[in-house]
Amino acid sequence: MSGNIPLIIWSGGYDSTALVLDCYERAERFDLLSIDIINNKNKVICETKAQNKILSTLKPNKLLRNHYRWECGNISNSGDWRLSQPVIWLTAVMMFLRKEHYQIKFGYYKGADPLNGTDILYTTFNEMFKLCRFDFKRPEISIPFLLSDKETIFRDWYFNDDYALGKKIYPHIWTCEGPLKKGRGYIECKKCVPCLSKYKTLCIIENFNQ
Ligand SMILES: [Zn+2]
Repeated sequence: MSGNIPLIIWSGGYDSTALVLDCYERAERFDLLSIDIINNKNKVICETKAQNKILSTLKPNKLLRNHYRWECGNISNSGDWRLSQPVIWLTAVMMFLRKEHYQIKFGYYKGADPLNGTDILYTTFNEMFKLCRFDFKRPEISIPFLLSDKETIFRDWYFNDDYALGKKIYPHIWTCEGPLKKGRGYIECKKCVPCLSKYKTLCIIENFNQ
């Protein structure tokens, strides 16, 4: 028997949250898998807080089945022997994969570079799946935004006047990798790669709308 529920790899950022919104749009039930690599304590605090806010906003719709979470030590950027983050994500997928999952969804968009190319992502996933000797059918990997740029994702899901849920979720999303402490909370650094990408996208949208 093959599955009927997608497993979404969810960081709580704009792209993976758009995958969640897509399930709401189609009223499809789903599972989430979040992988917190503890390489920056403040970032994890901000991300977890943001994820909880997003989930409580979505909760009344009852489409979320399970939210799996893996808190993983700092294995991705210590010393010279770095493990590529997508390998960690695929390892986590193997831990939480169930026969109900027909798809593993990643929020990569055009230009994001998983494992230096999606071919390697598919191959690595297939080989890992074989090694795990599961007794169910291999789910497919789905990357719905592979041909979309960041502006398109923002416009379609967060700045779309016809889509109230996305507008409601937008203020809760956190992507900054270098949060700065301010008072009792944190503010964005506006300097890290995700901050620069966010503000560049917002500038493009603003210029376009003028
Ligand atoms: Zn930042």
